[in-house]
Amino acid sequence: MHAVAAISQSALAHNLSIVRAQAPHSKIVGMVKANAYGHHLIHSTPLLQADLLGVSELSEARQLRQLCNQPILLLPGVYNATELNEAIELGCHVVIHHPSQITAIANVDQTLNVWLKVDTGMHRLGLSADELNLSIQQLAKNPNIHIEAVMSHFACADEPNNIQNLQQISHFDQLDITSFNRSMANSAAILSLPNIHFDYVRPGIMLYGVSPFGKPHESLQPVMELSAPILSLKKISAGERVGYGATWQAEEDTTIAVIGIGYGDGYPRHARNGTPILINNKLYPLAGRVSMDLICVDIGNASVNIGDKAILWGHAKLRVETIAQYSDTIGYELLTHVSSRVNFIQS
Ligand SMILES: *Cc1c(COP(=O)(O)O)cnc(C)c1O
Repeated sequence: MHAVAAISQSALAHNLSIVRAQAPHSKIVGMVKANAYGHHLIHSTPLLQADLLGVSELSEARQLRQLCNQPILLLPGVYNATELNEAIELGCHVVIHHPSQITAIANVDQTLNVWLKVDTGMHRLGLSADELNLSIQQLAKNPNIHIEAVMSHFACADEPNNIQNLQQISHFDQLDITSFNRSMANSAAILSLPNIHFDYVRPGIMLYGVSPFGKPHESLQPVMELSAPILSLKKISAGERVGYGATWQAEEDTTIAVIGIGYGDGYPRHARNGTPILINNKLYPLAGRVSMDLICVDIGNASVNIGDKAILWGHAKLRVETIAQYSDTIGYELLTHVSSRVNFIQS
């Protein structure tokens, strides 16, 4: 009996179609970094229909190349000739986000697609406006180099009313880049800022059916259903306590279902008492601390059996956004933390 992450192939295809419907005039860079946001690339092949695929490491590009022929956007770009040669071999477009990366590609003798990343206010990766102009001049000297797009990334797109979004858009608008393809939108901007979809959109979390805004989005379908079996049922009396630290106490006589999943599988240890768990289509509260391999659930007098399936997230009645709220994190973190001990299957 095992914890299982079932990856819905139809939900992946559906969510990609939602991106196409939201941004019909843009090409799609499907963000599949971090092993497809924890869903495993090999189980996420419906996403490989996107026009480009975004990764954060050459190792991810290597793995992706076993699965498809789509061009790959290598987000951190390259820093030396070895990385450059491998990136070209793998069919990567490379991002330039720092002037020092120009040296690594300046004398490239094969066709190379480059994306220039501009810092419009997030102050993480990206060129300043002056560095951008200089880079364009320098790269123009080598006819093998093709600037495919100028891109930038939002700091606050998950808060549609945050003034910084407009400031970043205005900064991007002021750049002298009208002759290039442009790309700004992540999932949140795809859903809330239709006027800046430009030539390429870069959806990540929404492809996996999770809203970037924290509350479930009605048109997205959850992709990963995380479940685990009930390993034990135990009657306890009012006043008795459950789990490490004895932090949860029964108010009345009840039954505790013990489920075979814990933080060693990626279920968040910070999930609070009361975090909902779905068993036989009904929600029950988490009772006591999450252990490495087990959690306990207060099922009252419900009739459930050892071996019944408990769903931790990824169901219409229990979305990962809810678990994220109960554990003070975001869906992104929960999905990418599901551990290799969990049995991944396609559904
Ligand atoms: C991860 C990433 C995205 C996707 O962000 P979501 O919020 O998951 O849609 C887009 N652009 C860049 C540069 C990224 O690193």
